[in-house]
Amino acid sequence: MDSSLPHRDLLREACELAIRHLAGIDSRSVFPRAEDLARLVELDRPLPDAPTDARDVLRRLDQIAGPCTVASQGGRAFAYVIGGAHPAALAADWMTSAWDQNAVFHDTSPAAAAIERAAMRWVLELLELPPSWRCAFVTGTTMAHVTALATARHAVLERVGWDVERDGLFGAPPITVIASEQAHGTLDRALAIVGLGAGRVVRVPADEHGRTRVDALPRANGPTIVCAQIGNVNGGACDPLREIASAANEMGAWLHVDGAFGLWARAAPTRAHCADGLELVDSCAADLHKWLNVPYDNGVVLVRDRWTFAMRAALSMSGAYYPDESHFDPGRWTPEASRRARGITVWAVLAALGRSGVADLVERTCAFATRFAEGLRSAGYEVLAEVPLNQVLVSFGSDDRTRAVTQALVREGTCWCSPTIWRGRVAMRISVSSWATTGGDVERSLAAMIRAARSS
Ligand SMILES: *Cc1c(COP(=O)(O)O)cnc(C)c1O
Repeated sequence: MDSSLPHRDLLREACELAIRHLAGIDSRSVFPRAEDLARLVELDRPLPDAPTDARDVLRRLDQIAGPCTVASQGGRAFAYVIGGAHPAALAADWMTSAWDQNAVFHDTSPAAAAIERAAMRWVLELLELPPSWRCAFVTGTTMAHVTALATARHAVLERVGWDVERDGLFGAPPITVIASEQAHGTLDRALAIVGLGAGRVVRVPADEHGRTRVDALPRANGPTIVCAQIGNVNGGACDPLREIASAANEMGAWLHVDGAFGLWARAAPTRAHCADGLELVDSCAADLHKWLNVPYDNGVVLVRDRWTFAMRAALSMSGAYYPDESHFDPGRWTPEASRRARGITVWAVLAALGRSGVADLVERTCAFATRFAEGLRSAGYEVLAEVPLNQVLVSFGSDDRTRAVTQALVREGTCWCSPTIWRGRVAMRISVSSWATTGGDVERSLAAMIRAARSS
C-alpha cells in the first residue's frame, strides 16, 4: 500500500515538522526575535532554474520561516484580534488540503457542498436564527461585508426600479450610507469596492465606550443602508441593535451589522445580550478565523431570508460550461467561483465544541479579559473603556509611555499585544480570542505587563 503513494514520506515529514512547531510554541517568544527575522532574506532568492527535492523545500521553510512565525497557536498572543486554530479545525484543515476540493458546485465536490450546507445549518442554530436565512463562507469579514453590501445595493435599488447588476451605478439613484464614526476600516474598504464610496458615508457619533448613539442617528429618505456593529475592534462595545433596527425600519433602510468577532457573543448565555436584536437585521458579516478559532482564512455572511433573491441577483454567474442548478452550489452565494472548501473546518470546530463548547470558549475568554482589566487597574494603570467582551484597552500614562511599554512587552516575549488609538489616546489593546489561553497564561502575561510597565 505504501508504495502506492510515492509522497507519503514527504507528507509524514510535513506533519512531524508541524507537530514539532506546535509543541515548541509555549516556550518561545510569542513575537519572533530580531535575529530570526534577519534570516528571512534567505528565502528571497532568484527563481531556481532546476527542481529541488520537496523535502529540502520543506526543511528550508521549517528552519528559516518557522522561527519567524508569530506564535498565535499558543495561549499568549493578544495582539490585534487573532484567534488560534482549534485542534479539531486545524486537523480538518489538513484534511481539506489533502482532499483539495473545488467547492464551487455540487458537481465539483458533492462532499464539500454537503458539508458546507451542514455547517451553515449549525451556524444558524448556534446563533438562534431562522434556518431559512442565507449563509455563505468567504475569506473573512471584509469579503463578507462586500457580499452583504452588494446584496443590500441590489435590494435598495431594485425598490426604486434600478437594475444595478445590469446598469452599474452610472446614473443610479444615490444610496445614503449611515455608519458609526467607530466603524471598522474594512467597512469603508468594502463600501469603496462596491462603489458606494467611503467618503460619502454619513457618520454617527459614538458614546465613550464606542457604541453608536441612537439619539444621533440621522433620518434619511430613499435608498438607504445603515451599518451597525457588535464588537468594536478596540474595546468590544456592542451597538443597541434593537433600537437601531427600529430606526432603520422607520426609514425603510437596509440594516447591516459588522459582527466580526462580537457575533459569537450570541452563543454564550451571559454575553448573548450583546447581540440582542440580531434577528432583526438584514445582513451580518463575521469572522470564523478570530473568536471561533477556525484556521485562516474564513468568514461568514448572513442574509435575512426575505433577501435571498437579492443575494442571488447580486452574485449571479452563468456560463455554458457550468452545471445547471439542480443542487445546492456553495459558489453561487459567494463572490468567488473556484474556492477552498471552507465549510469543512467550520463543521469540524462546531462538531468538536458543540453549543456548550462555543459558549464556554466565549465565556472563558471574556472572563480572562476581565481579569486582565482588574489586574492592571489594581496595579495602578488606567483601563480606558468598559470590558463587555474579550477586549481590554489600557494606558500606562502618556502616549509615549504606553507605546514604550507595549514595545518592551513584545520584545520581552512572554506575550504579544498591539497599540491602538482610543478616543485620541494611545492604548495597549489586549484581545483574548483563543481556546488555547489558560488562567496560567493570563497570570504570566499580567506579570510581564506589570514588569514592562515598571521598567519602561
Ligand atoms: C477584524 C475585523 C474586521 C475585518 O475582518 P477581516 O477578517 O480581517 O476581513 C472587521 N470588523 C471588525 C470589528 C474586526 O474586528
